[in-house]
Amino acid sequence: MTIDFVTRALADVVFTPFWLDRDDVSDLEPPHAGKTDAELLIVGGGFTGLWAAIQAKEADPVRDVVLIEAETIASGASGRPGGILSTSIMHGLANAERVFPDDLERLEALGRANLHGFRDTLERHRVDADIEWTGEMTVAIGKGGVGVLDEEEALHRRFNYDVVRLDRDDVQAELRSPLFEAGLWSKRDSGTVHPGKLIFGLKRMALQLGVRLFEKTPLVKIEDTGATLRAIAPNGEFHARGILLATNAFAAGHPHIRRRVAMIRDRILMTDPLSAEQLARIGWRNRQGIYDTRTQLNYMRLTSDNRILFGGRLGVFRNAPRDPAFDRTQRPYRRLAEAFQRTFPQLDDVRFSHAWSGPIALTTRMAVHFQRYFGGRVIYAGGYSGFGITASRFGAAVGLKLIDQTAVPETTMAFAATLPRRIPPEPLRYLGSTITMHALDTADEKGGWRLPWLKLIERMGFPLS
Ligand SMILES: Cc1cc2nc3c(=O)[nH]c(=O)nc-3n(C[C@H](O)[C@H](O)[C@H](O)COP(=O)(O)OP(=O)(O)OC[C@H]3O[C@@H](n4cnc5c(N)ncnc54)[C@H](O)[C@@H]3O)c2cc1C
Repeated sequence: MTIDFVTRALADVVFTPFWLDRDDVSDLEPPHAGKTDAELLIVGGGFTGLWAAIQAKEADPVRDVVLIEAETIASGASGRPGGILSTSIMHGLANAERVFPDDLERLEALGRANLHGFRDTLERHRVDADIEWTGEMTVAIGKGGVGVLDEEEALHRRFNYDVVRLDRDDVQAELRSPLFEAGLWSKRDSGTVHPGKLIFGLKRMALQLGVRLFEKTPLVKIEDTGATLRAIAPNGEFHARGILLATNAFAAGHPHIRRRVAMIRDRILMTDPLSAEQLARIGWRNRQGIYDTRTQLNYMRLTSDNRILFGGRLGVFRNAPRDPAFDRTQRPYRRLAEAFQRTFPQLDDVRFSHAWSGPIALTTRMAVHFQRYFGGRVIYAGGYSGFGITASRFGAAVGLKLIDQTAVPETTMAFAATLPRRIPPEPLRYLGSTITMHALDTADEKGGWRLPWLKLIERMGFPLS
C-alpha cells in the first residue's frame, strides 16, 4: 500500500509552536502574591504588553511599571506567528485605504517611523532575532490573482515603495511553484523574524529596564476605588493609576471588549530543515516572506536553518478556548498539508516537524483599535487581525499616550478616536464564522452560494476577497 504525502509528512509532527520549542526559552518570572502599588499596570505578556512596558520605561526610567501575564510570556499569539515583518500598522496598504482613506498618507508615515523605532530599539539592545530584511512578496494564484497584484502595485508605487513586478517566468525564477502566475516583491523595510527570539529579547530588555514582571498571574477583575484602580488577581491585588489591557484576542479586562473583537485561530506547519538539494528544487534564493492571493490565504517563509513555514488555515471555536484540543491533533492540518503539496509538488519527500495554531483578534477594521473604560484610565489596545509583529509596537505607543492623556496628533486620528463595528454575540458569532470558514475554504473550487455569502460578510465590514 502506498502512503499518501499528507499522512507520511505529518507522521512525526509535534503540536508545539516551533518558535518556543527551544532549550534557551527564558526562566519564568514568579507569580504575584499580596498587595502591589504601580503607576502603570500592563496586562498581557505578548508583543503589545512588552513594547508598552519598554517604551514607558525608555520615556521615563523612574516610572513604576508592572506587567502581569496570565500564563507565560509568549503563550498567546506572539509566540506563534508566521514571522513576516511589514511596515504597515493597519494590516497592509490596501486595508488602510479601505478603512481610513483620508488618513492614508499619515498612517504610512507613522508606519515607517514605527518600523524605524522597531529596528533602532532592537539594535540598541542587541536583540538577535534572526531578522532578514529580504522583503515581502505577494504571489498571484490564477488569473484573478494577477488583478489583485495590479491594484497592489499601483498603491505601493503611489507611496514610493521599492516594488518589483514579476511575470510568470520572473516569479518562477524567485520561487518555483506551478501555482504562481505573477508576483509583486516589496523589497525594503520588510522581511522575516524569529518571533520566539524576538519576544524573549523584549522580555530581557523589559527586565533590564526595571519593569516588574509577574507570570502565571491572570487579571480577574478591575474595580474603581476613586484615587486608584484596583486590579484583582487570584493571590492578591494591584493598585494602579492607569491600566493598559494588552490582552488581544483574549479580550480580558472588561466584558464589553468582546463586542468588537472576535477570536479566530490560524494554523501553521513547519517542515524539517531542507537539504541544499531540496532547496534547489524550489529556488527561493532571495528568501522573501510570501503571501498568496487565494481566498483562504497561505503565507510562507524560510527559517535561518532552511525550514519552510507554511501557514493559513483558519478555524473557529465556540467561546474562544485558550488552547483547543482539536488543534493538537493531525486533522485540522491535513488540508494545510494538501495546500503545501499543491504549492510545492516537487517537495514530495519533506516532513513536517511542528504544527500549531494561534489566536487572532479579528475586528471589522482588521487593525489595531483602542477601547476606553473607567473614564479613560483603562485602555484596551489590540485587534491586529493577524498582522501585528511590528504594528504592536505602534499600538502600545498610542495606548500609552491615551492612558497618560498626552495630546499627540495620533490620538485624535480616526483609528484611535473611533471604534470598529460591533460583531454579533454568541451563538450567532460562532454560527456565522463557521459558515464563513467553510465558504472561504471551498469558494475558489466550488463557487455557488459561497460567493454571495462572502459578499454579505464583507458588507458587515470584514474584507474577505
Ligand atoms: C498563526 C498566526 C500567524 C501570524 N503571523 C503573523 C505574521 O506573519 N506577521 C505579523 O505581523 N503578525 C502575525 N500574526 C499576528 C501577531 O502574532 C499578533 O498580532 C501579535 O502577536 C499580537 O500581540 P499581542 O501582544 O497584542 O497579543 P498576544 O500575544 O496574544 O498577547 C496577549 C496576552 O494576554 C494574556 N492574557 C489574556 N488574558 C489575560 C488575563 N486575564 N490576565 C493577564 N494576561 C492575560 C495572554 O496570555 C497573552 O499572552 C500572526 C498570528 C497568528 C496567531
